[in-house]
Order: sequence, then structure tokens, then C-alpha cells
Amino acid sequence: MLDTIIVGSGPAGFSAAVYSARAALKTLVIASSTEPGGALTTTTEVDNFPGFDEGIMGPELMAKMRRQAERFGAEVIQENVADLDLNGDVKRVTLDNGKVFEARTVIYATGSEYRKLGLPNEMEFSGLGVSWCATCDGAFTSGDNVAVVGGGDSAMEEALFLTKFAAKVYLIHRKNSLRASKAMQERAFANEKIEFIWSTEVTSIIGEEGVDGLRLRNLETGEEADLDVTSLFIAIGADPRTHLIHNKLELSSDGVIVVDGRSSRTNIPGVFAAGDVIDPIYKQAGVAAGAGIVAALDAEAYIEDKKAEADVENASPLIEKLKEITL
Ligand code: NDP
Repeated sequence: MLDTIIVGSGPAGFSAAVYSARAALKTLVIASSTEPGGALTTTTEVDNFPGFDEGIMGPELMAKMRRQAERFGAEVIQENVADLDLNGDVKRVTLDNGKVFEARTVIYATGSEYRKLGLPNEMEFSGLGVSWCATCDGAFTSGDNVAVVGGGDSAMEEALFLTKFAAKVYLIHRKNSLRASKAMQERAFANEKIEFIWSTEVTSIIGEEGVDGLRLRNLETGEEADLDVTSLFIAIGADPRTHLIHNKLELSSDGVIVVDGRSSRTNIPGVFAAGDVIDPIYKQAGVAAGAGIVAALDAEAYIEDKKAEADVENASPLIEKLKEITL
């Protein structure tokens, strides 16, 4: 039996794996089959992860974390989890392919998933002009006019990246001011290829087999207009990926897993959570990495406590016997 199964392979998952494997816990990381390494593998340069003074590309950072975990003996598999049985002392994790793994503890660190706008053809045109990842799809926009929706750091990052390929990048935001950090705002404002369209929402995607344009509505005047673009990049944040543990772990009104104070302890003993699945506010790679470390330390302490309990239980008949002899 394993000591710990870590579900998720972002900064939280791999940091937990580094600590638990290094503490000689038998550790398995279940990285998804579609996005091993998590969201950072689809980003460009990460400028603010401590320790990388010149910045580092997201995929390289995640590859380094994985290698570090493997160096201490963590096993990493790229499969999707289908079900979790979290109650009891032995936790069971079932994969899509039917394989079942057992462990004393589970660390749940599945991160978050991109929000959708909820437009009629949004999902149908995914890969046909609609995208959530400029790093993945930006190169296909060479010489085109494209649009990015959102007002946070992700939207700025996507728009800036797209200026390498596209002729023009329209940044559509529902408000007239940005949520993005000052530094990112300034970079976006300074780029001549980016044109901001304020207080506006996308009401529909124009096109039969892909994106031929967007219909927009100004939220202050109600005026409608069409925008001639070939791609729509959606960067409006992300929600915690919790569908596998609904009705199993306690969730807060924000939709994140409830943990006990500054720990990673969920409402089920032996089950710990870390990263974006517990974080409605900060959502930073560094914060997730720290939370992963907390989870590994909590899992280790839990396993030690369980061992100590078992030792006492095993020793009690002997103690009773000794008492009888002494009396
Ligand atoms: P955020 O939650 O910060 O921003 C989401 C943006 O999308 C907001 O401007 C929001 O509008 C808008 N939005 C949300 N829902 C809709 C909707 N249905 N329709 C239209 N617009 C919508 O998410 P991000 O992904 O940008 O960032 C998440 C975290 O990651 C942040 O903490 C950010 O700082 C960090 N990050 C850091 C980066 C870096 O430092 N290099 C890069 C990328 C992310 P409104 O403002 O009106 O709420």
C-alpha cells in the first residue's frame, strides 16, 4: 500500500511530492493525461516564482518540479482519476482505466479550470478559433485580427503574447478599468498592437464552422456592433476543479475545499487539499507550492500519529499481562 496519493501535478501537487517522497513516504502523483504539470505548462514566462531571477518558462518550471519529486522517489503517472473512496483508513483512487490504487493518505491538488463565457458556440468552436490558451494556439493567428476577453493578469498576458503573431489584438473588458497588476497593465497599454474595448461584452460568436467575428454590446449604452476577428481568446479566470469530490469533501460558499485553519486538513481524516482547490483569493504558483508543502507535512504527521496509535493498541494486551504478573 502507498503512503500518499497526490491527485494533481501543478505546483501544489509536485511540491507536496518533493516533501513526501523526501520524507521517505511511498508517493504516487497522478498527473492528468491531458495536462500533466497543470496550468503553468500552458503559460509563457513566469517572472515572479521565487528563485528564478531571470524568470523561467512555465513548462520548464513544471518539468523541474517533476524531476525533483522523481529524484526523491515519487512515482508519476499520467492518467485521469475517475473516482475516490476517501472514507476509512485505506483510501482508494480509481483511474479511468479501472486501475485502483490504495494509500493511507490522499492529497487533493487538482487546481482550477478556465471559466467559460457561456456563449452558444463557445465549446463547439473550441480549437476552431475559440481558445483558452494563447501559448497553445497563438501561432495560428499570424497576421490576423484577434480578440481577448478579460481584465486580469491572464488577459494581459494572453494579449501581449498574441501581439507576436496577430496584426491586431482587441482586448474586450466588461468594465472601464482593469483588475490586472499595474506592471501588466502598463505593458499592455504600451503595446501599439493592443486596442482596448471598454465596458463591453461579447454576446455571440459569428461564424458557421469557426470564428468569423464577434457581436459586441456596450454595457453602458446598450449599443451593439460586430467585430471582425478570426479568434477569440477567453481569459476570465478559473474555478477550482472539484467535480470529483462534490458530496465527499466539504466545500465553502466560494466553491473551494474547506481546510482546517492554516493546515491542509479537510473534513475527512487522512485527506488533505492544497493549491487553487483551497484558494479563492491568491491563486499564485508560489502560494500553491507552499500549500503543497503544508499538505505533505500534514500527511506525514497523520501517518506518524496513526502508527503511534497502532503501536499503543498492539502493546496494550502486553501491558495488561505485565500488570497481572506484577499484581
Ligand atoms: P482574475 O480573476 O484575476 O480576472 C478575471 C477577469 O475576467 C476579471 O477582469 C473579470 O472581470 C473578468 N471576467 C470574469 N468573468 C467574466 C465573464 N463572465 N465575462 C467577462 N469577463 C469576466 O483571473 P486571472 O486568470 O486573470 O488571474 C488569476 C490569478 O492569477 C490572479 O491572482 C493573477 O494575478 C494571477 N496571474 C498572474 C500572472 C502573472 O503575474 N504573470 C499571469 C496570470 C495570472 P471583473 O474585473 O469585472 O471582475
